Amino acid sequence: MPSSVRARLTIWHAGAVACVLLILALATYVLLRQDSIRRVDSSLEDVTNSFLATVQAEIRDAHGTEDFKQCVAAAIQEHSYRETTFSVFDSGGKLVMTSPVSPALLDSEIDRYTDLRRRGTLNEPRRRPFRTLTASGHLYRGYSRAFLAEGSSYVLVALESLRSEQAFMAALGQTYALVIPLAVLLASLGGYFLARRSLSPVTLMSDQAEHISATNLRDRLIIKNKTDELGRLAGSFNRLLDRLEESFELQRRFVADASHELRTPVAILSGEAEVALSKADRSPEEYRESLEILRKESFRLKKIIEDLFTLTRADIGQLPLTKSAFYLEELVTDCVHNCRTLAQAKKITLQCSPAPELPLEADEALLRRMFLNLLDNAIKYTPNSGAVSVSCEHCEGSYLIAIADTGPGVPKELQGRVFERFFRADKSRTPSDSANGGAGLGLAICRWIAEAHHGTLELTGSGASGSTFTFSIPAPTTGPAFPSS
Ligand code: ADP
Repeated sequence: MPSSVRARLTIWHAGAVACVLLILALATYVLLRQDSIRRVDSSLEDVTNSFLATVQAEIRDAHGTEDFKQCVAAAIQEHSYRETTFSVFDSGGKLVMTSPVSPALLDSEIDRYTDLRRRGTLNEPRRRPFRTLTASGHLYRGYSRAFLAEGSSYVLVALESLRSEQAFMAALGQTYALVIPLAVLLASLGGYFLARRSLSPVTLMSDQAEHISATNLRDRLIIKNKTDELGRLAGSFNRLLDRLEESFELQRRFVADASHELRTPVAILSGEAEVALSKADRSPEEYRESLEILRKESFRLKKIIEDLFTLTRADIGQLPLTKSAFYLEELVTDCVHNCRTLAQAKKITLQCSPAPELPLEADEALLRRMFLNLLDNAIKYTPNSGAVSVSCEHCEGSYLIAIADTGPGVPKELQGRVFERFFRADKSRTPSDSANGGAGLGLAICRWIAEAHHGTLELTGSGASGSTFTFSIPAPTTGPAFPSS
């Protein structure tokens, strides 16, 4: 089988057409042949009836003056205009009288009839009295009928040439032999052009797709007809390219932002080390100061690298959740407790309102990381002597944890972007060279953690009076085995 779809379609098409034509030709050939034989048979029967009626009439009219042979001869004479040969045999199979026939027919056909009579195959009541015979390459149809005359039994055999039927069937066969191959050839050509035309968009699409690479991801396949199957295929391919382009763009931005964020601490580290080494006579305090800067920057660098690593693993699905049963409100209270020192340093009031029991089966370590991050942000962006409050609720099948602060809030136009990677609403407020300044990855990681638990994390309120981040997670419908609180 050829590998090209076009060639395969053409072969199948031509094969199907050839099969249909052959079956049709065979059926019409057989039907026409049967019909012509039926017509000859009925004509033979009619002419035999007429012949026998003439013989009986001759016998009646002769009143014994003529012998049987003369009567048969008179009947043959009367029916001589017909192209039918009549032969009469006596009961012993002996030829009594026959029409003038060609010597060849007489020799072969009459002998054959005599032979058939002798073997008793003619005129047997159970057999049809019709036979098809061949003589000198021609077909004849024979009909035999027994009759009584002057008290003796005879057999009349009528023969009719099938020459014209034979010629018609031969002409029909020749026509088929010519027309069928021609029709199959035309069907093959038609099928080939049809397949070529139908598949040309596929060839075009594959040529276009071949030229699309990471450098020209903006290119799209040209769609001529959007509604047909190939148009829909091209549409799906273009949408796939849209998604690819989008993720390439995200990836590119991610790499650019990551390298930008990494460059700053690395530059500070190398700059500070150079300064420390440039002067030979530095005091121990100066060295201590430099080392402290190096420590803070390397800590910051480590954090960015860890966050990047977390997000990359999350993106490729390599950060599986390690679930365990625990009480969510206890985890939140514990996180609040851990952040007290941070809050105290800024004289911020940090409080957690009393909460109902919130049993949950989730990744405790990841949720802890998320709450610490949110609390850290709340404290970081709240000015001294401000307040941060945390509430836990069980509401309409979900657990809601809200962390509210009295910070400056996020400008309205930037609120939708706070969960983007490397996004910082006000870079001057969170300078990346300060120890506290983050790289803008914290909220992206928090949102991934919430979504990995089929929950949500939203900035539910932000204004001049502060911001509120709300985490929502579906409450379990069946209670797993929880540790006693
Ligand atoms: P960062 O490490 O810079 O804090 P995050 O992803 O945690 O990164 O936060 C992204 C940005 O969202 C921050 O730079 C800040 O502009 C804004 N933001 C986050 N939390 C708060 C908050 N509680 N109050 C005001 N702005 C916030």
